[in-house]
Amino acid sequence: MKYKSTLGGIEPVPFDQAILEGFAADGGLFVPETIPRFSPRELQNMATMEYLELAETILKKFIDPEIIPADDLRELLNNSFAGFESNEIIPVVRFGSSNLFIQELFHGPTLSFKDIAMGFLINCMDYFLARKNEKLSLILATTGDTGPAAAWAAAGKDTLECWPLYPKGMISEEQERQMTTLEADNVHPVGVTGCKNGGDDLDVVVANLFGDGQLKKELKLSSVNSINWCRVMVQTIHYFHGYFKVAEDVGEEVVFSVPAGAFGNLCAGFIARSMGLPVKKFVCATNDNGTLYRVFEKGYLSQEELITTCSSAIDILVPYNFWRFLYFNCAGDTELLNDFIKEFNEHGLLRFPADLWKQFRTGFVSTTISDEETLATIATVYAQDAYLLDPHGAVAVAAAWNCQDSWSQQDKVVCLATAHPAKFPDVIGQVFHRIPGLKLTTTHPSIEAARNRFHHLRTCSYDVLEPALVRAIRTRL
Ligand SMILES: *Cc1c(COP(=O)(O)O)cnc(C)c1O
Repeated sequence: MKYKSTLGGIEPVPFDQAILEGFAADGGLFVPETIPRFSPRELQNMATMEYLELAETILKKFIDPEIIPADDLRELLNNSFAGFESNEIIPVVRFGSSNLFIQELFHGPTLSFKDIAMGFLINCMDYFLARKNEKLSLILATTGDTGPAAAWAAAGKDTLECWPLYPKGMISEEQERQMTTLEADNVHPVGVTGCKNGGDDLDVVVANLFGDGQLKKELKLSSVNSINWCRVMVQTIHYFHGYFKVAEDVGEEVVFSVPAGAFGNLCAGFIARSMGLPVKKFVCATNDNGTLYRVFEKGYLSQEELITTCSSAIDILVPYNFWRFLYFNCAGDTELLNDFIKEFNEHGLLRFPADLWKQFRTGFVSTTISDEETLATIATVYAQDAYLLDPHGAVAVAAAWNCQDSWSQQDKVVCLATAHPAKFPDVIGQVFHRIPGLKLTTTHPSIEAARNRFHHLRTCSYDVLEPALVRAIRTRL
């Protein structure tokens, strides 16, 4: 299997190159030459597999054994998920006795769904770099969960210097501590003040650095942001896993409700469905920054002002992985995709042709969930089922409730809970203020442990970030 660019400007490259480069050299995103497909019989065989075996079966379709031999792949997978606190890795719990299920994607070391793909991505990078005796600088912009996941996975690896950039004051204190208290001398968190558009501002700086070919080479830059193909690929696995946990018969169609930010997780869902997974609908659950809602329900992509919400990990303006999804929906027409991206970059607005819009709506519905609804959902679910959702999982559940007319009552609905509530104690606090007499604190041992350590970080204001970062990266090479 080789990997092409969504912009069509490069010769196909092997998996290791696609992963190490992050972005393709023409600025596009890597995509597999073809999407592999499982036969109904293969799916039947996969139905009883536990997560790691399932992962191996799926990843073998994307990674040739000459690039990672089977034994090494197994070892990489085992190591990548060893830090998960649940034996099941990604447990699925039933929501009361209804057809609503919660797939818990937050049992990794930094308690968010970013851990799921990040560990494997970084272990793969380390594996390939060690083989070539090379080193890379990872820079990444984070809205609060990517940074910690990358920092944890990269900590102590000689092949990597890790630079997580985050909008200071716009992520939770708990998330910040997960990066700044690591005590690993190859991890360098940077808190950036004055980011009007939050993490999207930081993406601009990252894109600038990557756009300068010379600098990219000199600084040995690579990215583990959600555009990295490896993350999307690994995220396909949990759809299969969740499906097999809830479906009674292979072939039954299941609904997935997913809190969407950069659209990586949903793009993975789309790919899982293209591989043969029977999915009835995807609910693209957004908060008041309804970029993806406008895409699916109104037929246009537009850049608007950022709204700060209580589901901060999905406060994203430009859902980068949407280009990947669009590429597949245009049947790989790279010229058309180039035109679309150009139009969007010039006007901040892109209206989709009616037939294309209709096509990518197939099997997708979308809704926006306000903070008020998010908080009310956390309260309702806790009152009914004694289950504490984090704000992102709550967005998924609320969206599934809003959209339930799009499927029938018998259909099973899997809501993806993407973070542990202990990462967002202020939000949870707001919920429990509303219910007199009810007291609830949410915590996790790893969050508590981080409170008693020094912060190690760099800070700067947004306007000097680029030169300051270039300078600092040079000193570490
Ligand atoms: C990153 C993240 C999301 C959004 O996932 P995308 O792949 O960016 O759409 C949702 N919830 C949480 C908690 C996250 O960290």
